[in-house]
Amino acid sequence: MPAAGTADRTGPAELVAAARGGDARALARLISLVENASPQLREVMRLIAPHTGGGRVIGLTGAPGVGKSTITSALVGAYREQGQRVAVLAVDPTSPFSGGALLGDRVRMQNHAADAGVFIRSMATRGHLGGLSWAAPQALRVLDAAGFDIIMIETVGVGQAEVEVASLADSTLVIVAPGMGDSVQAAKAGILEIADIFVVNKNDRPGAQETIRDLRTMLAMAPPGADGWKPPIVAATAAAGEGIDDLVARLAAHAEWLGTSGERERRRLARAREEISAIAVAALRQRLSALPGQSQLELLAGLVARGELDPYTAADRLVGG
Ligand code: GDP
Repeated sequence: MPAAGTADRTGPAELVAAARGGDARALARLISLVENASPQLREVMRLIAPHTGGGRVIGLTGAPGVGKSTITSALVGAYREQGQRVAVLAVDPTSPFSGGALLGDRVRMQNHAADAGVFIRSMATRGHLGGLSWAAPQALRVLDAAGFDIIMIETVGVGQAEVEVASLADSTLVIVAPGMGDSVQAAKAGILEIADIFVVNKNDRPGAQETIRDLRTMLAMAPPGADGWKPPIVAATAAAGEGIDDLVARLAAHAEWLGTSGERERRRLARAREEISAIAVAALRQRLSALPGQSQLELLAGLVARGELDPYTAADRLVGG
């Protein structure tokens, strides 16, 4: 077993080659580089760019306890049966540490722990330089370049984070469950827009039919999506593996539609735009906060405060470097 020091000296090219060759440790190191906003990422991203675009990204979101991990695990099993390589990225936008509450119940995932065709990783983004919008797409890129056919990204339904995750996915699952308070009402208007497929999980529980009915009513009242896709509702009892075949079939239908409608291209362009903006904004923030007292911002602030320069010109100078 190589010492940690050996791994630390491994450069981006070696790590990328090893990860693409199926080395899970190298892949985990690359994701850590993203998590730590390593300066080596620039080189990693340059190296992997030609190898991206092959993976299918499935986003899963929903309140804690609705059954995201259970569904993720069941989908991993279903895709493995099809012979697909699957990666799962669990993003916790609320925790500054990885391996936190999300995927906290890893027991179910342990079925897949020994399977070389499955890679599971959680990533923390709070307190991160650029937050979720900076880190998540880069982690997805790494997994994509490592040759996974299916990449699942799971996040707890906490406002902005779920919308951001949806913007990263080719297909987004919004998961609700009965008995979780008024889950459909809690799933505010924004969720209707991000869902490509709704899953009403815990169909074995009382109230499941009402949840499905409420959701149908909400969908019927919602204006049709600009993209022309009508999100289906899948009823599932994920804990018993029920409804998973239907979900896989709906996901396949959505993937097919993404191709024929041109929506996949549109989504990937939008994703690339977000990615570039997130990196640019983070770089700018870093510049703004660099070396207080000596920074260009301080200099410009003095000029603007004394009325010697207007703030627009100052901002131009700052952005222009
Ligand atoms: P997450 O927090 O959204 O990832 O939810 P989990 O997958 O951890 O599931 C939360 C709890 O609900 C666990 O105790 C699961 O065993 C349970 N659960 C998951 N799916 C079902 C289901 O279909 N029916 C029932 N009754 N319980 C389920």
